[in-house]
Amino acid sequence: KTKKIAIYGKGGIGKSTVVSNIAAAYSQNKNVLVIGCDPKADTTRTLVGRRIPTILDVVKEKKDVKKDDILFEGYGEVKCVESGGPKPGVGCAGRGVIVAMNLLEKLEVFKPDPDVMIYDVLGDVVCGGFAVPLREEFADEVYIVTSGEYMALYAANNISQGIQKLKGRLGGIICNCRGTNHEVEIVEEFAHRIGTRVIEVIPRSELVQQSEYDAKTVVEKFPDSEQSAKYMELSEKIYKNQEFVVPKPMGVDEFEEFFRKFQ
Ligand code: ADP
Ligand code: SF4
Ligand code: MG
Repeated sequence: KTKKIAIYGKGGIGKSTVVSNIAAAYSQNKNVLVIGCDPKADTTRTLVGRRIPTILDVVKEKKDVKKDDILFEGYGEVKCVESGGPKPGVGCAGRGVIVAMNLLEKLEVFKPDPDVMIYDVLGDVVCGGFAVPLREEFADEVYIVTSGEYMALYAANNISQGIQKLKGRLGGIICNCRGTNHEVEIVEEFAHRIGTRVIEVIPRSELVQQSEYDAKTVVEKFPDSEQSAKYMELSEKIYKNQEFVVPKPMGVDEFEEFFRKFQ
């Protein structure tokens, strides 16, 4: 059976870095499909080595879209697609995710079943469109990436509301460090308050940028580094994870009180 994972988080928090690196880790012994659902459309850049055409762009230009127009192979034979987004100021990005998912089903991109499928989803707004991968038929389990920063945690709390609403299964919080004060402590307390736990702490590392310059993952460019080992460890933990919860998001006041405690 395919393991279907959705990774959510605020824009710029490190979702794509996590997704591409764990995809590279899984590729060592598994078939992997990565579906970028962020309008930024750069999830798969470090896997393929360049930006790939997005589903929304291809659909706009071509009547009879084929699998090869939108599905690209990257490092370790990881299969990659990007939903893409509308032109800024026009249309609805969430709708783009829906269009993309329907097309992927029609083109049978999910077949033959990969061992692991990873969705990278923007969680700044958890409107209907961006919530699609939270639905049962798409992802079985969800992880939220956050740092100890206010806005990242605020978004994480919002995302957990979306998960609760759709009765999704939250597998844990990935703490991607920015280096703020008491960061791990804050994120651990956050996880506890919403009824889950921190599944991995990813340190801040300049190897991430250095790999990004080369359009590579850390796992590919610095395979023997500690940072790469962290992504490998995270991929293992997610693969073996059996602890899932319907999260209990904080209310507005509770969230403020929680965050202020650490100031
Ligand atoms: P998102 O997909 O959530 O928008 P990205 O994965 O693109 O975020 O990361 C945003 C920026 O932060 C990128 O420039 C990336 O190189 C950097 N970054 C992410 N994780 C780390 C880390 N652990 N250490 C250092 N830089 C990081
Ligand atoms: Fe579309 Fe969601 Fe943006 Fe509204 S908030 S325009 S539904 S993507
Ligand atoms: Mg991204």
